[in-house]
Amino acid sequence: MNSSQPTSSIERNNEWVFNNVSFKGHEQVVFCHDEETGLKAIIGIHSTVLGPALGGTRMWAYENEGDALRDVLRLSRGMTFKAAISGLNLGGGKAVIIGDARTQKSEAMMEAFGRFVNSLSGRYITAEDVGINTSDMVSVKKFTDHVTGIPESMGGSGDPSPVTAFGVFNGMKAAAAFHWGNDSLEGKKVLVQGVGHVGETLVKHLTEAGAKVMISDIYADRLDHISSVYGAQICPVDKVYEADMDIYAPCALGATLNDKTIPLIKASIVAGAANNQLADENIHGKMLKERGIVYAPDFLINAGGLINVYSEIAHYSLEESLKKAAAIRDTTFWILEKAASLNITPHEAALQTAAERVAAAKMKMA
Ligand code: NAD
Repeated sequence: MNSSQPTSSIERNNEWVFNNVSFKGHEQVVFCHDEETGLKAIIGIHSTVLGPALGGTRMWAYENEGDALRDVLRLSRGMTFKAAISGLNLGGGKAVIIGDARTQKSEAMMEAFGRFVNSLSGRYITAEDVGINTSDMVSVKKFTDHVTGIPESMGGSGDPSPVTAFGVFNGMKAAAAFHWGNDSLEGKKVLVQGVGHVGETLVKHLTEAGAKVMISDIYADRLDHISSVYGAQICPVDKVYEADMDIYAPCALGATLNDKTIPLIKASIVAGAANNQLADENIHGKMLKERGIVYAPDFLINAGGLINVYSEIAHYSLEESLKKAAAIRDTTFWILEKAASLNITPHEAALQTAAERVAAAKMKMA
C-alpha cells in the first residue's frame, strides 16, 4: 500500500494503524466533538494497569488532527511510564484540545470537555497541561469529579507547575553530580527554553542556586517579565541550540532533541520539563550518548506535577509532594548509573525500570 495514501483503519502485525499512526499498546482513544462550543479533543488512555489513567489536558493549535493524535498517543504513553517510575498507583492518559488557548478557549468549551471526561467513568482523570490552567479545571469540575489540579481555595492541590519545577531542579542536580562529581549549579550556564508555568519557577531555583541563567520564549511579554524579575539573559529563539551553555533545559514543547539540534548542542547536560524531548526515543537518545551529553530522562524528572495532582486522590500534603519531588534526585542519579553500567541510554534505563513495574502488576492481575 502507498504510505501517502489515506487508509481506513487496518490491522497490521497485531497492531492498530490509522492513517499511518500506530495505536500499539493503547487501551482506548476517544475523539470528542461539541459543535456548540467548537470543542475538538482527543483523550488517549494508554494503560490502566497500575490505576486510573491520570494526565493533563493540552490545548494547542495543531496544524491538523493527525498531529494532535500523534501527540496525545505519545504523551499518554509517557504518562504510564512516568507514574510507574515515580511509584504512583496510576495509569497513563492524556488529552489534547485542538485550538489556540489564547484566543479560542472558552468556559463553555471546558465544561463540554468535562462532560466527555465524565463519560469515561474515572478510567481517565484530567489535570492541566500547556495552554490549560487551574481555572479551566474548575469549569471541567462542574461536570465531572474525575479532575485534579483544581485551586487550593476549592480544596485542590493548585497549580502543579511549582512542584514540577522543583523535581526538574533536583533531576538537574543529580545529572550535575553524575557528570561533574558534585551537584552545585553555582556559575553553571543554564538555558531555560520556554519560561511559562514551569520554566519561571525553574529560573527562580536556578537563580537562587547561583547559576547563570539564559531564557528563551516565543512571547516577548514572558521574556520581559522573567528577565526583569530574575535578571536572566535573553537568548533569541533561533539561537538556542548553538548557545554557549553547560545545561540545556527544554521547558516548552517536545521533540527539540532531533537530528538537526543534537549536533549543535554544546551543553554537557540536558535536563528539562518538556514531555517527549527526544524526537525519536531510540535514535536521539543514542545520539546524545555518543556525543557524551548526559540526558536526564524527561518523564522521570518532570514527574513533580503528577506527584502533586495525585495528592488530591491519595490525600497527602504539599510537604509530602515536595519530599517526593526531591527524591527525583536520587532516582535520577541511580538511573544514570544504571545506564552507564549497562551501556544503554538513560532513557532506555528509565523505560526499562518503569516497564518492569507495569509488567509485574499485570502478572499479578492475570
Ligand atoms: P506553559 O504553556 O506555561 O509554558 C510553555 C512556555 O513555552 C510558554 O511560555 C511558551 O510561550 C513557550 N514556548 C512555546 N514554544 C516555544 C519555543 N519554540 N521556544 C521557546 N519557548 C516556547 O507550559 P508549562 O506548564 O510551563 O509546561 C512546559 C512543558 O513542561 C510542557 O512540555 C509540559 O508538557 C511539560 N510539563 C509540565 C508540567 C506542569 O506541571 N505544568 C508537568 C510535566 C511536564
